[in-house]
Amino acid sequence: MTTCSQKPADQSGSFDQFTEDLFNTLYTPVQGSREASKEEKALIVTLFAKADQNQLTAPIVALFAKLLEFNSEQKIEISNFGLERKVLENIALRHQEIDEHMVSLGGRLTQALPIADVANDRVTDYLSRKTEEAPSGIELWPQIQENIARIKRELKMSDDDWNSSSGQLRNAVDSVDTLAKLIDLPVDAVKAIGKITKSYRMRLTPYYTSLIMPGMVNDPIMLQSIPTGEMINNSGIEIPPVAADHSPARLIDQFYPRVLTIKSTNMCAMYCTHCLRLAHIGRKDNVYSKEAYGEALDYVRNNKRIRDVLITGGDAFVLPNSILKFILEELDSIKHVKMKRLGTRVPVTMPMRVDNELLDILEASNDKKPVRVVTQINTAREITPVSQETFKQISKRVFAVLNQAVLLKGINDSKVKMWKLCETIQESYVRPYYLFNCSYRNPQFNHFRVPLEVGRDIIESMYGNISGDAIPRYISTAGGKIPMHRDNVISSDDKGNYTLRKPWSGEEVQYPDADKELYYKDGFAFDEYLK
Ligand SMILES: *Cc1c(COP(=O)(O)O)cnc(C)c1O
Ligand code: SF4
Repeated sequence: MTTCSQKPADQSGSFDQFTEDLFNTLYTPVQGSREASKEEKALIVTLFAKADQNQLTAPIVALFAKLLEFNSEQKIEISNFGLERKVLENIALRHQEIDEHMVSLGGRLTQALPIADVANDRVTDYLSRKTEEAPSGIELWPQIQENIARIKRELKMSDDDWNSSSGQLRNAVDSVDTLAKLIDLPVDAVKAIGKITKSYRMRLTPYYTSLIMPGMVNDPIMLQSIPTGEMINNSGIEIPPVAADHSPARLIDQFYPRVLTIKSTNMCAMYCTHCLRLAHIGRKDNVYSKEAYGEALDYVRNNKRIRDVLITGGDAFVLPNSILKFILEELDSIKHVKMKRLGTRVPVTMPMRVDNELLDILEASNDKKPVRVVTQINTAREITPVSQETFKQISKRVFAVLNQAVLLKGINDSKVKMWKLCETIQESYVRPYYLFNCSYRNPQFNHFRVPLEVGRDIIESMYGNISGDAIPRYISTAGGKIPMHRDNVISSDDKGNYTLRKPWSGEEVQYPDADKELYYKDGFAFDEYLK
């Protein structure tokens, strides 16, 4: 692939400016030069032989890189090596003849390689810190397996219990007494959690409990699943829950003309301490009636603008397969509904729930109209070999698996943690979609909130340093989703030349706009032939 900015290759067997400059540097006398040592001379002889013999580009680059280093850093003139300029020029020419894209030696050595070096530097810090500061559940798997063995023993769970959703739910950890048997909690924490769980529901699957690392203060798994005193201290003026002002029909939330959600259950396998739907879920499990689903589906059926329906909760995958099948089939039968989404955290909280029957239901519906599974993963710790395998299975059956993370203090509010999260989920067949700034609506989790600009800086740090499809959109929710990207357009002049900012370096670049006159002119492309 060629881009417009690439210079046309020189076909005539002569040098481009970069190679010209390289030779001029090499053959300009060096101020205060010194003699090359025997070893240095021998090294050049070896590199020359390799560059001269092979039909390869790398040995040619290696020879000239060394000559350039000797010249610029060691103050050794090229005359030390008895290499005639003409001979070296022929080798340099061979470089661009061998290279498929006719890249010149000077271009590669003095331009491309230094640019790649500068780019490499931008991730050095991350690479050295990511395993220590933000280990994934895959990296911690040996420890998690020990945790699993301990929890199984404590709860007297058989392998069958562990590997089934019924076993996981039957043994779910919903009291502080059970919790204290499974993880080491300070005495004061046990007392506090006992009090708090009178007001806020706690439920962890044994599987999710096994992700908690013994002895870690503010473990990101614990923070997300075990309520703390702040929830009570913070609870003050409640801003009315979203549903109160956005529910035009039973089970439905709607902000947008063409997308809506069906809150299909109030149950979750694990109850998050930062849940936006705190007011609806978690008090007591409700099984919704056929009539309720019927009314919601009627609303969709009667609103021809609706093209995309989100089945959320609670957690959609907590519903029995029969109900998910029913809802999906109903939606598929509505002509104006073109696609569906299912919101679930089950692949990270209770992956064993995702059975073959469910996968078949997803695939059958996806064959009719695209299905996306939208999940919530907030830390790389939530990705284990088990959840990764589950996402792989799901991704084979649906159009896309997307992640909506919440920016949470202590869980993912650093560059290293967020990069690691996004990389890990992408390597697990899940695409980062949204990163939500934690909402102001529920004062119970004010202690988790992270300043807007912290999140913005984290997301911007990813541009240019990670695959584009690993970068989520940063969103604040305020009666709809508002993107929070900083504007990379600095200014524009009256001729339509823009000044843009590269997020990864701050460097400003000029970007001429399209020719407006040309754009608005009548007649275009094949129009010309119709005259
Ligand atoms: C998030 C949300 C949607 C979907 O928004 P997208 O930007 O399409 O992902 C739709 N309806 C409600 C009520 C939502 O909260
Ligand atoms: S899975 Fe979603 S709905 Fe359920 S508790 Fe967590 S954030 Fe709330």
